[in-house]
Amino acid sequence: MYVALFDIDGTLISSGGAGGAALMGSFRDTFAIRDPRPVKFSGRTDRAIAGDLFQLHGLENNAENWGRLRDGYLDRLPNELGQRTGTILPGIESLLETLDARADIVMGLLTGNLPDGARLKLEHFGIYQYFPFGAFGELHENRDDVARDALRMVQQRLADQTPAQDRIWVIGDTPFDVQCARAIGCQALAVATGVHDRDELALSEPDLLLDDLDNAGPWLQQLGPR
Ligand SMILES: [Mg+2]
Repeated sequence: MYVALFDIDGTLISSGGAGGAALMGSFRDTFAIRDPRPVKFSGRTDRAIAGDLFQLHGLENNAENWGRLRDGYLDRLPNELGQRTGTILPGIESLLETLDARADIVMGLLTGNLPDGARLKLEHFGIYQYFPFGAFGELHENRDDVARDALRMVQQRLADQTPAQDRIWVIGDTPFDVQCARAIGCQALAVATGVHDRDELALSEPDLLLDDLDNAGPWLQQLGPR
């Protein structure tokens, strides 16, 4: 048995900026801040991004403000996804079909997105059905904690079928994805389809580094024959 835990943005899809636009739109309208200062998104959880926005603008980083920002974000996201030209990244549909056809591979999500944000994005691109479970960024500012949730979920779902950690892969496009794989002692596959190029990703020392998942052969080899 193998487990593949996928990041979403920059790994499976590009939302064409829809996620950022929906979050910043919600922040602007909810807190009446016309020109919010920019924050880093890539590889971070939605809860962490919200925390930065609150701190930068002197707002309390509490459950109430987070709830208001989150609700506005989820309200806006479908419209933003429809208006922007996002895309499924190269090779993803074919790779998901290949993995889904194997009885010895379990797929899940390990993402900084909210559960509903992940669902809306992946439904928009028609690939939500491949992911029967996931760990999300609603509660945690640190991606390593999302990874710990993901590992617990794998252990709960697979019980005594849970593979050794060297058969559990975390697939993502940022150094944070590699780092969170390390936090749970699992394998890291880094793909240069997000904002980080190969050289940047190499510094985080993933177990495998690929230009994109259209050329996933080297990874599939590591998963062994069917
Ligand atoms: Mg990503």
